[in-house]
Amino acid sequence: MPQAPAFVGDLATSLLGRRTDVLDVREPAPGFLELELRAEAPSGGWQRGHEVQFRITPSLTRRYTVRTVGGPESEHISILAATEAAGPGTAWLRSLRVGDRITALAARYWPLREHGTRRLYLGDGCSLGTLDAYAQRGAASVGAVTVAVAVEVPAPAVAPLAERWPEYRFLPAGEAPGVALQSWLERALREGEFKGSGLDGALLLGHAQSIQRQRRALTDSQALSRRAITTKPYWSTGKTGL
Ligand SMILES: Cc1cc2nc3c(=O)[nH]c(=O)nc-3n(C[C@H](O)[C@H](O)[C@H](O)COP(=O)(O)OP(=O)(O)OC[C@H]3O[C@@H](n4cnc5c(N)ncnc54)[C@H](O)[C@@H]3O)c2cc1C
Repeated sequence: MPQAPAFVGDLATSLLGRRTDVLDVREPAPGFLELELRAEAPSGGWQRGHEVQFRITPSLTRRYTVRTVGGPESEHISILAATEAAGPGTAWLRSLRVGDRITALAARYWPLREHGTRRLYLGDGCSLGTLDAYAQRGAASVGAVTVAVAVEVPAPAVAPLAERWPEYRFLPAGEAPGVALQSWLERALREGEFKGSGLDGALLLGHAQSIQRQRRALTDSQALSRRAITTKPYWSTGKTGL
């Protein structure tokens, strides 16, 4: 429901709205904002990877993902947001200050359906928080092994993010979205980087058109079958608010 009449937004807010306080806003790397929030938990509680929507205006929402959950009564959640998009959602996030009270819309947790137990995670900056949440969840809940996490991010963010997540591979974005990650993936497949890893599942998130190319590279090289790959576009060239 990224765009809907205000009365629909009001109805969604009355059903799904969670009172939320902004506890902290940080810039962990150029092009990223990290929000620490205290938010009333939805039915079943907050989970890593939980999808939330923020009501930016009465008729506009934008989607984000819970990266971590903690604190008293598990009501402290964090969200890692990329600030590449020059839309109203990003402007709204940038305007948030400690002490602001906002409304998060969240239903009961409904995870993405992942496959396999030796997994590859690919995405761009806006999906880093989700990829991290799913990699950690997979390890904790089903003992899944992370074969690799590779994320394309703005060049100035590579060093600070690599310092924070040394186990993940951060690739400096070029002029067009997805190109750096695609060439990393094609090289890795060509050089047999995943051979012997038992790779049997992948989660591809982020830019819609890039995800399609990544999936094709994985299936054409027979590294994975189409059924072993979970995809979810987070944004698409020429579209607003997926
Ligand atoms: C289920 C789901 C979960 C998500 N979780 C997160 C999350 O945890 N963290 C996060 O940062 N984002 C997340 N996103 C992505 C985020 O919702 C989008 O980036 C959103 O469109 C940004 O809103 P906006 O109003 O700033 O830009 P929009 O008004 O939607 O778009 C403005 C312009 O920017 C382009 N654009 C949109 N997003 C991006 C981007 N990421 N990079 C470059 N260009 C872009 C659009 O194509 C458009 O041309 C999620 C999306 C979905 C669907």
